[in-house]
Order: sequence, then structure tokens, then C-alpha cells
Amino acid sequence: MEELKHRVLIDSQAPNKSTGIINGESSNILNWDDVRFSWAYPKYKRMLGNFWTPFEINMAKDIKQFPTLSQRERDSFLKIIGLLALLDSVQTDYAGKVADYLTDSSLNALMIILAQQEVVHNHSYSYVLSSIVTKSEQDEVFEFWKTEPILIKRNEFITNGYKGFVESPNIENLLKSIIYDVILEGLFFYSGFAFFYHLARNQKMVATSTMINYINRDEQLHVGLFEKIFKEVLNENPAYLTEELRTFGMETFKQAAHLEIEWGREIIGSHVEGLLMHDLEDYIKFMANKRAKQLGFEEPFEGCKTNPLKWIIAYQEVDQGKTDFFEQKSRQYTKTSDANGFDEL
Ligand code: ZN
Ligand code: ZN
Repeated sequence: MEELKHRVLIDSQAPNKSTGIINGESSNILNWDDVRFSWAYPKYKRMLGNFWTPFEINMAKDIKQFPTLSQRERDSFLKIIGLLALLDSVQTDYAGKVADYLTDSSLNALMIILAQQEVVHNHSYSYVLSSIVTKSEQDEVFEFWKTEPILIKRNEFITNGYKGFVESPNIENLLKSIIYDVILEGLFFYSGFAFFYHLARNQKMVATSTMINYINRDEQLHVGLFEKIFKEVLNENPAYLTEELRTFGMETFKQAAHLEIEWGREIIGSHVEGLLMHDLEDYIKFMANKRAKQLGFEEPFEGCKTNPLKWIIAYQEVDQGKTDFFEQKSRQYTKTSDANGFDEL
């Protein structure tokens, strides 16, 4: 089992363009015109193009609307925020831990921007909660992950997956942790996203959904970045693309989808009018297939090749100018000439 070497602070003997994504040589100097991977700079531009902060979002309408939601809607709303707050907190730190072992200054730079975006996501949860509930309720929401059995089960699935790598950083554990990462950023948020988009579709809590949309947009880039890292590590270390890894990948996506469906039943069940749990299940299976395929694994669910929640695409593709459901304030940051299309849906 090959251990991972830390990226050195500075190495005058090594080239600026690194010799390997992991365990390579790199001066650690960042010159965007002299980097190992041609996709790194376009990714950097897209990540900067996504820049936003919660301060841009006016919460006035949501503040008035929140008390008018049903009890179930309010409970689900707060539970989802509690879940996202835990996942984004862990993610900020995981990004830094992976970055320490990437022997390439440009990929370290991308991971720092990714981590910064996770910090903004966490800020948005505090921002929403401080607008709509009391400080003590807000504090409670940030503690949900400790006591809600369904959250504990889901979160431990991810954190145990990360711990293997953090405690024993070798190539195999890095690859496996990236599978959990793609589940966190590309699957485990999706029942929650669907819940908020469903509210927005009914003209409820649109400011919160605007933030959720920005988070969704960031997460799609993050999944894409980890997909690249995963593939480059295997490309440079092909002996690690084993049958065991393929089976592990497929099985892990399958388990994750079941956990996400269980969570979806909890927060959506039959009580959110018009959002059929059956469709949400198929949507989650569709997303699990899509993510498994992105990492080069077999699809865990037969069929499930099309998105059964067609309306959701409009909410996720907001940057392509197809919709104007959300408040538009931060759109000025994303230049129309940039390649910022959503290739994920
Ligand atoms: Zn995030
Ligand atoms: Zn992310």
C-alpha cells in the first residue's frame, strides 16, 4: 500500500509544473501558464465566476413567509439546514486534508477555493437561520446532527469514509474517500435541494432557495473537480484500478442512494404536497447512477436513466438563462462569455 507524501513547502530543485498529481515533485510555485493539467485553469475561472455571498440575498419575504409554512414544512426546512451545516463543515476540512497530499500547486489552489466556497455555504445556513428563527432555535439546528438518528446514520457513512483516508493516508484510501466526497457533494444534498426547489416552485421561501441554488451550482463544480482528481490519480497509478475498487464504488453508491431515499422519506414523505416520493426515489437513483458513471463505475440501479423530476432541471440550470425564478443579484459575477454551463444534468 503506497503511502502519500505531503506536498513540500518549497523545492528549488523541482519544476513548477509538477511531475505527478500525488507523490510527485513540484517547486510549489504557482504559475497558471505553467501547470500540469490543462483543465485546471478553466476550472479556476469557473470557480471564481461562481463567487457569491449570502449578504447579497434579501431575506425580507422569507422572514414573513416562514411562520406561514405548515409545521411539517418548517420541521423539514430546519432539519435539512442542520444536515447541510454538518456536511459543509466537514467538507471544508476534508478539502484541506486532500490538498496537503496533492503535489501540484495549481490543484492546491483549486482546493483552497473549494474550501472557501464551503465556508460561504456554512455562512448561508447561519444567515438564513438568524433571519427566520431565534438564536436558541438556530443553536439547536446546529446540534441536530448529534441527536437525530437518521442524520447520525447518514453522516457517519460519510465521516467514516473520510476517516480511513485521514487516519491512514495512502493511495487506496484517498481514492475511496473521493467516492464518499462525490456522494456528499453530488448525491447527499439532493433530497434537500429538491425540497427547497419544490418550495420555490410554489413561491415559498424563494430567497433561501436562491442560496440553495448557488450552493447547488458550486457543488456541481466541486464534484467535477474531484472527478478529475480521481481520474488523474488512477491515470498515473493504474494498478489501483482494481476489481475490488470497482465493486466498492458501485456498492457504495448503491448504499448511499438507499440512505438518501430514507432521508427523503423522512423530510418529504407524503406530506409535501405535489412532490411525490416515488419520483424523488427515482431521481435519487438516477443521480446515483450518474455519479457512479462519472467515476467510471457500473451504474448501481437498472433503468433509472432519465430524470423523473423534469421540473427540477429548470431550477438547477438557472445560469443558462432559461429561468428567472430566483433573485438575480449575484448573476453579475458570472460573465456570459465564460464556459459556465451545467454539464452535470
Ligand atoms: Zn458546500
Ligand atoms: Zn462542495
